[in-house]
Parts: sequence; C-alpha cells; structure tokens
Amino acid sequence: MYLWNRAAIAKHWWDIAHKQDKMWIRWIHSYYVKQQHMDSVPVPKQASWMVRKMFEARPLVANMQIQPTGKSMIGQIYHHALTARSKMPWKCIMYQNVARPKATFTMWLLLLDRLLTAERLSKWGIKVDTKCCFCQKYDETREHLFVQCEYARQVWTRVGQWMHIQNFPPTNWIQHQQWLIINSKGKSQNAQVFKMVSTEVTYAIWMERNSRLFEKQSRSWEAIAKEIVYVACVRANPRIFDVIHSFIF
Ligand SMILES: [Zn+2]
Repeated sequence: MYLWNRAAIAKHWWDIAHKQDKMWIRWIHSYYVKQQHMDSVPVPKQASWMVRKMFEARPLVANMQIQPTGKSMIGQIYHHALTARSKMPWKCIMYQNVARPKATFTMWLLLLDRLLTAERLSKWGIKVDTKCCFCQKYDETREHLFVQCEYARQVWTRVGQWMHIQNFPPTNWIQHQQWLIINSKGKSQNAQVFKMVSTEVTYAIWMERNSRLFEKQSRSWEAIAKEIVYVACVRANPRIFDVIHSFIF
C-alpha cells in the first residue's frame, strides 16, 4: 500500500515533468520550477506536504520509460518500483549502518556478489589457488568463505553469543542473507547493533582472508572475534552505546 501511494505521487511528478496541461501543474511550474531543470530543482521547503512529496518522488521515476497511456501509469510506476526494490531486498542492512565505511563497502560488494573470491577470479580465466585459505578443504566461494567454512562459523558464533543472537547459524548463502535482513530490519537498537556488528564480522573475515593470502599472516578466530567486539564498542553511537556496553564478552 505504501509503495502504491508513492507510485501515485510519482505519477503526479511525471505529469509535472511532462507539463500535462492541467491548471495545478501550470501553477507548480510558474511557482516552483520556473526556468530550472526539473531534475535539479531543490525540494521547496516552504511548499505544502503534497508538493514536497511530489518533488521527493523524483528518484522513483528517474530513468524510467513510461508509456503515456494515462490510465495504467500509476501501475507502471508501481511495478517499476517493486522490481527495483526486489533487486535489493538487503538495503535495510546498508541503511544507517554505523560500521566503518570500509566495512560497509565490503558488505555492499559481498551482497552484490562483487567480492573477488577465487571462484569469481577463476570464472574469468585467472589462474588462482581455488582452495579456501582457512580450511584448505573446499573451494573458496562466497557461500563457503562467509557462511560454511568452520573458521567463519566460529567467528559468527562467538560474536553472536556476545550480542545474544538466536537462530544461528544459517547453513547456505540464501539463508544467511535472509538472516542478515531479518535481524537488520526496523529502527530498534538491536537492529542497529546487529547490522553494524555483522558488517564488521564480514569485513574481518575478508581482511583475514586477504592477509593469509597476500601477507602470509594468520590470526585465530578468537582474536578476530575479540577485535570485532572492540571495534563495535568504539563505534557505538549514543543510541546504541548502552546496549553494546551491556553485552559481556
Ligand atoms: Zn574453508
């Protein structure tokens, strides 16, 4: 319902952008848009709620091809928005995540499946050792490295115990991503803590993998877990400070 309403508002924006000849649209043009480009006009702060919402709906119709048939236009925008959203079901993990920027960036690449794991490199024809550097037993895939490998599971379990996370551990990538999404959804302190800590866990696993591969240095999963907890305590903003500091490692 929420998305449908946004689509309906975006439809008004489309009308404005295409100067549909209605009285109120001419009024918006002469009052707010004037001679500026539609996509770069700042949201007018003094305007009514509805006008501001229309300006804010711009990203929903950006780069979208709408067939100007009139009656199903809201439906077209709605389906466009729905598709865009279903492609990134994990965006709640990235939203207001207070993990270190380099950790958030790594998490983002991981969720997009863009991290250069051995599996992806060998798919491109680059010759690399495909075995996991933690266990030397299985091929290094995203699923193995971050979800199934014993080393990663130990880190997740230890850090999960520390922040009282239940229902752990997932055993494949789909479950893992679902688990990340479910625990990161909403505005609660627990969700805030979870998304920050799980992002730092992801980053720590990736960095440990890199240091084993490229610097031939390795650390135990206990040391990694301890460092994640330390970073989380330092990064905690006032909103989650008390929660994080109430956990005992
Ligand atoms: Zn492994």
